[in-house]
Amino acid sequence: MEKKELLYEGKAKKVYRTDDPDLYIVDYKDDATAFDGLKKGSISGKGVVNNRMSNLMCQMLQKAGVPTHFVEELSDRETLVKRVKIVPLEVIVRNVAAGSFSKRFGVEEGTVLKCPTLEFCLKDDDLHDPMINGYHILALDLATQNELDVISAYTFQINKIMKEFFLSIGIELVDFKLEFGKLDDGTIILADEISPDTCRLWDSKTHEKLDKDRFRRDLGGVEEAYLEVMKRIGLN
Ligand code: UDP
Repeated sequence: MEKKELLYEGKAKKVYRTDDPDLYIVDYKDDATAFDGLKKGSISGKGVVNNRMSNLMCQMLQKAGVPTHFVEELSDRETLVKRVKIVPLEVIVRNVAAGSFSKRFGVEEGTVLKCPTLEFCLKDDDLHDPMINGYHILALDLATQNELDVISAYTFQINKIMKEFFLSIGIELVDFKLEFGKLDDGTIILADEISPDTCRLWDSKTHEKLDKDRFRRDLGGVEEAYLEVMKRIGLN
């Protein structure tokens, strides 16, 4: 499968058309941004880690019955994926308080939540991805109730699978962000990366951060953290 024209270039990925109208190629970059693009940088090797880790996670989820956009890994940085219409929501799951949740609700970072929780944000950089509730989503016609139910059920299922997997490699899955898309026939599938860019991953014992917070918060050792995650998930 060959790359045709560039369709879209985002902050961390490029998306290309292919000969097949139903398939796109995603090309993962090393570029890193935070705070709505205010902070810019590069994390050497990040594209490779994010591509390979996302593909592994998608395959694991597919085996468990969660449909995803993954079709085939083409190279270290490139993957063939299904074309979808993205549902313009960031779906965030949390097991432990951190980041915006800690700030918004005044809960100390690291507090284990009584049960996993879910929130939706509107995917809109200009508006800084505001939090949005189910009624807003229906009123704005961003998704139907049935689509929201499917997305929520998949999300909690994904959380359960990923939490157990990361625990088995000494990593606490604090929170993460998912995006879903729709195939032409309306089927909802998982349609974005799952990587240290989009997950908070803490070492189970030391609580050392092994994710993009090292970049966001200038903690140093960013590349090393991404490589450590890749090593622990069995990719090298
Ligand atoms: N997240 C993401 N993209 C975003 C916002 C958040 O991937 O645009 C991820 C982030 O890496 C974390 C989770 O979603 O794992 C929850 O992020 P939070 O709402 O706490 O926002 P932050 O503190 O990162 O601004």
